[in-house]
Amino acid sequence: MGVLHARKAIMISDDTTQQARQVDHEALRAFVGRKWNDEIVPALTDYIAVPAKSPAFDPDWARNGYIERVVTDAAQWAEQQPVRGLKLEVVRLPGRTPVIFFETAATRSGSVETIVLYGHLDKQPEFSGWRNDLGPWTPKLEDGKLYGRGGADDGYAIYASLTALAALDAQGVERPRCVGIIETCEESGSYDLLPYVDALRERLGKVGLVVCLDSGAGNYDQLWLTTSLRGLVAGDLEVQVLDEGIHSGGYGGITPSSFRIMRQLFERLEDASTGNLLPKGFHCGIPAERLREAEATARILGDDVWKKIPWACGQDGRQVLPTTTDPQEALLNSTWRPSLSVTGAAGLPSLADAGNVLRPRTAFKLSLRLPPLIDAAKAVADLKALLEFDPPYNAKVTFKPDQGAATGWSAPDLAPWLASALNGASQQHYGADCAYIGQGGTIPLMNVLKEGFPQSQFMVCGVLGPKSNAHGPNEFLHVPYAKKLTATVAEVIAAAP
Ligand SMILES: [Zn+2]
Repeated sequence: MGVLHARKAIMISDDTTQQARQVDHEALRAFVGRKWNDEIVPALTDYIAVPAKSPAFDPDWARNGYIERVVTDAAQWAEQQPVRGLKLEVVRLPGRTPVIFFETAATRSGSVETIVLYGHLDKQPEFSGWRNDLGPWTPKLEDGKLYGRGGADDGYAIYASLTALAALDAQGVERPRCVGIIETCEESGSYDLLPYVDALRERLGKVGLVVCLDSGAGNYDQLWLTTSLRGLVAGDLEVQVLDEGIHSGGYGGITPSSFRIMRQLFERLEDASTGNLLPKGFHCGIPAERLREAEATARILGDDVWKKIPWACGQDGRQVLPTTTDPQEALLNSTWRPSLSVTGAAGLPSLADAGNVLRPRTAFKLSLRLPPLIDAAKAVADLKALLEFDPPYNAKVTFKPDQGAATGWSAPDLAPWLASALNGASQQHYGADCAYIGQGGTIPLMNVLKEGFPQSQFMVCGVLGPKSNAHGPNEFLHVPYAKKLTATVAEVIAAAP
């Protein structure tokens, strides 16, 4: 016994040189494939059918019970997973959307850091334009694509994350401690999540790696690591000039149009001919490393960067044109520069109901994507001041920001172990190198975690490749890509210190 003890002690102290059990890539692929076919695709099919819209789009979410339903379903599945020592809890703070929190101790002795796995179960609203045989809440599997709202953004994340852990445990491959945070407020800007992060901070431990499966992919041929995200400010801009509608013939030359005043306000904000945002405070410098990445990504994707967009047929039968046809500029425009969209309107009758009336008001929902390094709170204040200052004709102009303004994120320098693990995993499961890409979308938690855990590394990846169309019609989850991504997550977790 004494000898055995001594030998054991030596093995442990000699941990770094001793060969830990290596991942059996083939067995990993088989395990992940089975899980997806037998359990995850059916679970996500059920999940898609539930209109679990984010609280911003379903203020009555608590009474409607859809969020509760998807949280309960996912938690029940998760609790049955063969992950060593898995503890799972649905955490509920009063008046806030619930969060699934799970944790599993390290299976590798001497491991001191924690891996945080992140995803969300709330969804964007329906939107229009779905193919006749498809719909947001009517799941359909076709050619390896699972259509419907939320499967790819981001219902699959908890399933993929726990499958990666279960696959490693099944092989006896050692790994660090892991915790999972699956929220239900992401599509509203995660305003409910921050109190949870505070409440759970002690239980997060020393975070060494964040794995976030809520991002995109440049193509379906290789692993894509997201290196930056844009921030987001949204809100309602309203211009009011009258107490009630009046005859446009009688008063058309006397009354300033609320729409024209809106145009004037827009001129403060953007160059109408190019769409460039005018305030300098909405721009940031682009780090040299990110410029090099965009150049490399442009070489991989070429004109697909803009050609994959569902352009309408324009004038003379020719396609509508992008702001730029240079792939690198197009990538930078959509990831490192601000852009403004009007995503909704009020005060405007439908075309069929439009009489010759001067409307009392025009209101737009503004959605301003911010470059990764711009502080969202400051941008909100700047935007409000810019729009409300000295209104034309002394009209009543108000900008009411939405809850959940989010600051963007730029990845910290990639640790050598992570770079090599990502590339090895991409080679192993996709047969191609890992590639790097900025994303124009927003994941509010990433900046929060970067600030809270400045030493942490980030694996931000996702299944939202070409035409997957998260937030729009015909959203799909590319199942073969998702299987490979699940396997790469397992490989990276196994390689983490
Ligand atoms: Zn998402």
